[in-house]
Amino acid sequence: MSRRVALVTGGGRGIGLGVSQALAAAGFDLVICGVREESAVAEVMRALAASGAAVHYVQADVSKADDRTKLIAAVRARFRRLDVLVNNAGVAPSVRADIMDAGEESFDRLIAINLKGPYFLTQLAANWMREERQADQAFAGCIINVSSISATVASVNRGDYCISKAGVGMATQLWASRLAEFGVNVYEVRPGIIKTDMTAGVVEKYDKLIAGGLLLQPRWGSPEDVGKAVAMLARGDLPYSTGQVLMVDGGLTAQRL
Ligand code: NAP
Repeated sequence: MSRRVALVTGGGRGIGLGVSQALAAAGFDLVICGVREESAVAEVMRALAASGAAVHYVQADVSKADDRTKLIAAVRARFRRLDVLVNNAGVAPSVRADIMDAGEESFDRLIAINLKGPYFLTQLAANWMREERQADQAFAGCIINVSSISATVASVNRGDYCISKAGVGMATQLWASRLAEFGVNVYEVRPGIIKTDMTAGVVEKYDKLIAGGLLLQPRWGSPEDVGKAVAMLARGDLPYSTGQVLMVDGGLTAQRL
Protein backbone atom coordinates (compact mmCIF):
# COMPACT_ATOMS: atom_id res chain seq x y z
CA MET A 1 0.00 0.00 0.00
CA SER A 2 1.33 3.47 -0.87
CA ARG A 3 1.98 6.01 1.88
CA ARG A 4 -0.65 8.59 2.75
CA VAL A 5 -0.29 11.94 1.02
CA ALA A 6 -0.81 15.39 2.54
CA LEU A 7 -1.03 18.73 0.73
CA VAL A 8 0.16 21.61 2.91
CA THR A 9 -0.41 25.13 1.56
CA GLY A 10 2.32 27.52 2.64
CA GLY A 11 4.22 24.48 3.89
CA GLY A 12 7.70 25.83 3.17
CA ARG A 13 8.15 28.17 6.13
CA GLY A 14 6.66 29.29 9.43
CA ILE A 15 3.72 27.33 10.82
CA GLY A 16 3.33 25.46 7.51
CA LEU A 17 6.88 24.16 7.78
CA GLY A 18 6.19 23.01 11.34
CA VAL A 19 3.19 21.14 9.93
CA SER A 20 5.21 19.65 7.04
CA GLN A 21 7.91 18.44 9.43
CA ALA A 22 5.39 16.85 11.79
CA LEU A 23 3.55 15.14 8.93
CA ALA A 24 6.78 13.85 7.41
CA ALA A 25 7.70 12.42 10.83
CA ALA A 26 4.25 10.82 11.00
CA GLY A 27 4.90 8.96 7.72
CA PHE A 28 3.14 11.15 5.16
CA ASP A 29 4.41 12.03 1.71
CA LEU A 30 4.00 15.72 1.02
CA VAL A 31 3.03 18.27 -1.57
CA ILE A 32 3.85 21.80 -0.50
CA CYS A 33 2.80 24.99 -2.19
CA GLY A 34 3.83 28.60 -1.80
CA VAL A 35 4.17 31.74 -3.85
CA ARG A 36 7.97 31.70 -3.95
CA GLU A 37 10.09 30.10 -6.68
CA GLU A 38 11.01 26.46 -6.12
CA SER A 39 14.68 27.44 -5.75
CA ALA A 40 13.81 29.43 -2.61
CA VAL A 41 12.61 26.29 -0.82
CA ALA A 42 15.20 23.84 -2.19
CA GLU A 43 17.02 23.52 1.14
CA VAL A 44 13.77 22.99 3.07
CA MET A 45 12.63 20.35 0.57
CA ARG A 46 15.96 18.52 0.87
CA ALA A 47 15.66 18.47 4.66
CA LEU A 48 12.10 17.12 4.50
CA ALA A 49 13.14 14.43 2.01
CA ALA A 50 16.00 13.47 4.33
CA SER A 51 13.41 12.63 6.97
CA GLY A 52 12.07 9.89 4.68
CA ALA A 53 9.12 11.60 2.96
CA ALA A 54 8.64 11.88 -0.79
CA VAL A 55 8.16 15.63 -1.30
CA HIS A 56 6.99 17.77 -4.17
CA TYR A 57 6.81 21.58 -4.42
CA VAL A 58 4.32 23.54 -6.52
CA GLN A 59 4.50 27.31 -6.93
CA ALA A 60 0.83 28.24 -6.60
CA ASP A 61 -1.11 31.22 -5.28
CA VAL A 62 -4.16 29.86 -3.45
CA SER A 63 -6.16 32.99 -4.24
CA LYS A 64 -6.04 32.19 -7.99
CA ALA A 65 -8.45 29.62 -9.44
CA ASP A 66 -6.04 28.45 -12.16
CA ASP A 67 -3.28 27.93 -9.61
CA ARG A 68 -5.59 25.88 -7.36
CA THR A 69 -6.50 23.65 -10.31
CA LYS A 70 -2.80 23.31 -11.22
CA LEU A 71 -1.96 22.43 -7.63
CA ILE A 72 -4.49 19.61 -7.34
CA ALA A 73 -3.48 18.33 -10.81
CA ALA A 74 0.14 18.26 -9.62
CA VAL A 75 -0.80 16.13 -6.59
CA ARG A 76 -2.64 13.70 -8.90
CA ALA A 77 0.26 13.53 -11.34
CA ARG A 78 2.90 12.98 -8.65
CA PHE A 79 1.10 10.73 -6.14
CA ARG A 80 -2.32 9.75 -7.58
CA ARG A 81 -3.89 10.11 -4.13
CA LEU A 82 -4.78 12.78 -1.57
CA ASP A 83 -5.50 11.88 2.05
CA VAL A 84 -5.02 15.15 3.92
CA LEU A 85 -5.36 18.81 2.97
CA VAL A 86 -3.94 21.40 5.36
CA ASN A 87 -5.15 24.89 4.47
CA ASN A 88 -2.37 26.84 6.17
CA ALA A 89 -1.28 29.54 3.71
CA GLY A 90 -2.33 32.98 4.84
CA VAL A 91 -1.30 36.59 5.14
CA ALA A 92 -1.64 39.41 7.63
CA PRO A 93 -2.48 42.92 6.45
CA SER A 94 0.61 44.70 5.07
CA VAL A 95 -0.21 47.58 7.43
CA ARG A 96 -2.30 47.29 10.56
CA ALA A 97 -4.93 50.03 10.30
CA ASP A 98 -7.77 51.11 12.59
CA ILE A 99 -11.09 49.86 11.22
CA MET A 100 -12.23 53.50 11.28
CA ASP A 101 -9.86 54.12 8.36
CA ALA A 102 -8.75 50.77 6.86
CA GLY A 103 -9.18 50.44 3.11
CA GLU A 104 -10.95 47.96 0.86
CA GLU A 105 -7.81 46.85 -0.97
CA SER A 106 -6.38 45.11 2.09
CA PHE A 107 -9.81 43.63 2.88
CA ASP A 108 -10.14 42.15 -0.63
CA ARG A 109 -6.58 40.78 -0.53
CA LEU A 110 -7.04 39.05 2.82
CA ILE A 111 -10.43 37.60 1.95
CA ALA A 112 -9.03 36.28 -1.35
CA ILE A 113 -5.97 34.59 0.19
CA ASN A 114 -7.19 33.61 3.67
CA LEU A 115 -10.81 32.65 2.92
CA LYS A 116 -11.74 32.28 -0.75
CA GLY A 117 -8.52 30.40 -1.56
CA PRO A 118 -8.85 27.67 1.07
CA TYR A 119 -12.63 27.45 0.58
CA PHE A 120 -12.36 26.66 -3.12
CA LEU A 121 -9.22 24.55 -2.73
CA THR A 122 -11.25 22.49 -0.26
CA GLN A 123 -13.97 22.15 -2.89
CA LEU A 124 -11.48 20.62 -5.34
CA ALA A 125 -10.01 18.33 -2.69
CA ALA A 126 -13.49 17.35 -1.49
CA ASN A 127 -14.61 16.21 -4.92
CA TRP A 128 -11.46 14.13 -5.31
CA MET A 129 -11.84 12.64 -1.81
CA ARG A 130 -15.43 11.67 -2.65
CA GLU A 131 -14.05 9.76 -5.67
CA GLU A 132 -11.44 8.11 -3.44
CA ARG A 133 -14.16 7.03 -1.00
CA GLN A 134 -16.32 5.64 -3.79
CA ALA A 135 -13.35 3.63 -5.05
CA ASP A 136 -12.43 2.36 -1.57
CA GLN A 137 -14.89 2.33 1.35
CA ALA A 138 -11.96 2.23 3.79
CA PHE A 139 -10.73 5.65 2.58
CA ALA A 140 -10.60 8.19 5.43
CA GLY A 141 -9.73 11.72 4.34
CA CYS A 142 -9.02 14.72 6.50
CA ILE A 143 -9.09 18.47 5.95
CA ILE A 144 -7.54 20.83 8.49
CA ASN A 145 -7.99 24.59 8.36
CA VAL A 146 -5.40 26.71 10.13
CA SER A 147 -7.37 29.76 11.19
CA SER A 148 -6.46 31.86 14.26
CA ILE A 149 -7.63 33.06 17.64
CA SER A 150 -8.58 36.10 15.53
CA ALA A 151 -11.64 34.11 14.41
CA THR A 152 -13.19 35.17 17.73
CA VAL A 153 -10.80 37.66 19.37
CA ALA A 154 -11.42 41.18 18.00
CA SER A 155 -8.36 43.25 17.01
CA VAL A 156 -9.64 46.61 15.80
CA ASN A 157 -6.41 47.35 13.93
CA ARG A 158 -6.81 44.34 11.61
CA GLY A 159 -10.51 43.77 11.09
CA ASP A 160 -9.87 42.35 7.61
CA TYR A 161 -7.73 39.55 9.11
CA CYS A 162 -10.26 38.78 11.87
CA ILE A 163 -13.15 38.56 9.40
CA SER A 164 -11.18 36.31 7.05
CA LYS A 165 -10.44 33.91 9.92
CA ALA A 166 -14.02 34.01 11.24
CA GLY A 167 -15.08 33.00 7.72
CA VAL A 168 -12.70 30.04 7.86
CA GLY A 169 -14.56 29.01 11.02
CA MET A 170 -17.83 28.76 9.10
CA ALA A 171 -16.09 27.06 6.18
CA THR A 172 -14.95 24.39 8.64
CA GLN A 173 -18.53 23.82 9.79
CA LEU A 174 -19.82 23.71 6.21
CA TRP A 175 -17.26 21.25 4.91
CA ALA A 176 -17.50 19.05 8.02
CA SER A 177 -21.26 18.86 7.44
CA ARG A 178 -20.98 18.13 3.73
CA LEU A 179 -18.12 15.61 3.81
CA ALA A 180 -18.99 13.39 6.78
CA GLU A 181 -20.87 11.00 4.50
CA PHE A 182 -17.66 10.44 2.54
CA GLY A 183 -15.57 9.61 5.59
CA VAL A 184 -13.74 12.95 5.49
CA ASN A 185 -13.27 14.67 8.85
CA VAL A 186 -12.79 18.43 8.82
CA TYR A 187 -11.13 20.30 11.69
CA GLU A 188 -9.95 23.79 12.51
CA VAL A 189 -6.75 24.63 14.37
CA ARG A 190 -6.59 28.09 15.94
CA PRO A 191 -3.05 29.18 16.79
CA GLY A 192 -2.43 32.04 19.19
CA ILE A 193 0.84 34.00 19.14
CA ILE A 194 3.37 32.00 17.16
CA LYS A 195 6.93 33.06 16.36
CA THR A 196 7.20 33.25 12.54
CA ASP A 197 7.92 35.83 9.84
CA MET A 198 4.30 36.95 10.17
CA THR A 199 4.82 38.15 13.75
CA ALA A 200 8.42 39.40 13.28
CA GLY A 201 7.27 43.02 13.27
CA VAL A 202 5.35 42.80 16.55
CA VAL A 203 7.79 40.88 18.74
CA GLU A 204 8.27 43.68 21.26
CA LYS A 205 4.53 44.26 21.59
CA TYR A 206 3.79 40.57 22.22
CA ASP A 207 6.81 40.13 24.51
CA LYS A 208 5.31 42.79 26.74
CA LEU A 209 1.81 41.30 26.63
CA ILE A 210 3.14 37.83 27.46
CA ALA A 211 5.23 39.23 30.35
CA GLY A 212 2.05 40.99 31.54
CA GLY A 213 0.09 37.76 31.90
CA LEU A 214 -1.79 37.48 28.59
CA LEU A 215 -1.22 33.71 28.39
CA LEU A 216 -1.63 30.86 30.87
CA GLN A 217 1.54 29.35 29.39
CA PRO A 218 3.86 32.39 29.30
CA ARG A 219 5.86 31.80 26.14
CA TRP A 220 5.57 32.31 22.39
CA GLY A 221 4.08 29.38 20.51
CA SER A 222 6.24 27.66 17.90
CA PRO A 223 5.50 26.16 14.48
CA GLU A 224 6.24 22.79 16.13
CA ASP A 225 3.39 23.33 18.61
CA VAL A 226 0.96 23.75 15.72
CA GLY A 227 2.58 20.94 13.73
CA LYS A 228 2.00 18.49 16.56
CA ALA A 229 -1.69 19.40 16.74
CA VAL A 230 -2.17 19.06 12.99
CA ALA A 231 -0.31 15.74 12.86
CA MET A 232 -2.52 14.37 15.63
CA LEU A 233 -5.62 15.20 13.59
CA ALA A 234 -4.12 13.99 10.30
CA ARG A 235 -3.09 10.65 11.84
CA GLY A 236 -6.71 10.14 12.87
CA ASP A 237 -6.24 10.44 16.63
CA LEU A 238 -9.48 12.44 17.05
CA PRO A 239 -11.76 10.29 14.90
CA TYR A 240 -15.18 11.07 16.43
CA SER A 241 -14.89 14.87 16.51
CA THR A 242 -15.36 16.23 13.02
CA GLY A 243 -16.06 19.97 12.89
CA GLN A 244 -14.15 20.66 16.11
CA VAL A 245 -11.86 23.58 16.80
CA LEU A 246 -8.52 22.90 18.46
CA MET A 247 -6.94 25.89 20.22
CA VAL A 248 -3.12 26.07 20.16
CA ASP A 249 -2.86 29.35 22.05
CA GLY A 250 -1.14 28.77 25.40
CA GLY A 251 -4.43 29.50 27.13
CA LEU A 252 -4.90 32.97 25.61
CA THR A 253 -8.64 32.40 25.12
CA ALA A 254 -9.24 30.67 28.47
CA GLN A 255 -11.70 32.86 30.36
CA ARG A 256 -10.52 34.06 33.75
CA LEU A 257 -12.10 36.02 36.56
P1 NAP B 1 4.32 33.17 7.37
O1 NAP B 1 5.53 32.81 8.15
O2 NAP B 1 4.18 34.56 6.84
O3 NAP B 1 4.14 32.11 6.19
C1 NAP B 1 3.05 32.21 5.33
C2 NAP B 1 3.06 31.05 4.35
O4 NAP B 1 1.90 31.18 3.50
C3 NAP B 1 4.29 31.07 3.44
O5 NAP B 1 4.71 29.75 3.22
C4 NAP B 1 3.77 31.68 2.15
O6 NAP B 1 4.38 31.22 0.98
C5 NAP B 1 2.34 31.19 2.15
N1 NAP B 1 1.46 32.06 1.36
C6 NAP B 1 1.18 33.37 1.56
N2 NAP B 1 0.34 33.82 0.62
C7 NAP B 1 0.09 32.78 -0.19
C8 NAP B 1 -0.70 32.60 -1.33
N3 NAP B 1 -1.41 33.62 -1.86
N4 NAP B 1 -0.74 31.40 -1.94
C9 NAP B 1 -0.02 30.37 -1.43
N5 NAP B 1 0.75 30.46 -0.35
C10 NAP B 1 0.79 31.66 0.27
O7 NAP B 1 3.00 32.96 8.26
P2 NAP B 1 2.70 31.96 9.47
O8 NAP B 1 2.80 32.73 10.73
O9 NAP B 1 3.45 30.70 9.31
O10 NAP B 1 1.14 31.72 9.22
C11 NAP B 1 0.63 30.52 8.66
C12 NAP B 1 -0.87 30.49 8.92
O11 NAP B 1 -1.11 30.55 10.32
C13 NAP B 1 -1.61 31.70 8.32
O12 NAP B 1 -2.86 31.27 7.84
C14 NAP B 1 -1.80 32.61 9.52
O13 NAP B 1 -2.91 33.46 9.36
C15 NAP B 1 -2.00 31.60 10.62
N6 NAP B 1 -1.71 32.10 11.97
C16 NAP B 1 -0.49 32.62 12.30
C17 NAP B 1 -0.26 33.07 13.60
C18 NAP B 1 1.06 33.61 14.06
O14 NAP B 1 1.12 34.13 15.19
N7 NAP B 1 2.12 33.53 13.29
C19 NAP B 1 -1.30 33.00 14.54
C20 NAP B 1 -2.52 32.49 14.17
C21 NAP B 1 -2.71 32.04 12.88
P3 NAP B 1 5.93 31.56 0.64
O15 NAP B 1 6.74 30.79 1.62
O16 NAP B 1 6.10 31.10 -0.76
O17 NAP B 1 6.07 33.05 0.80
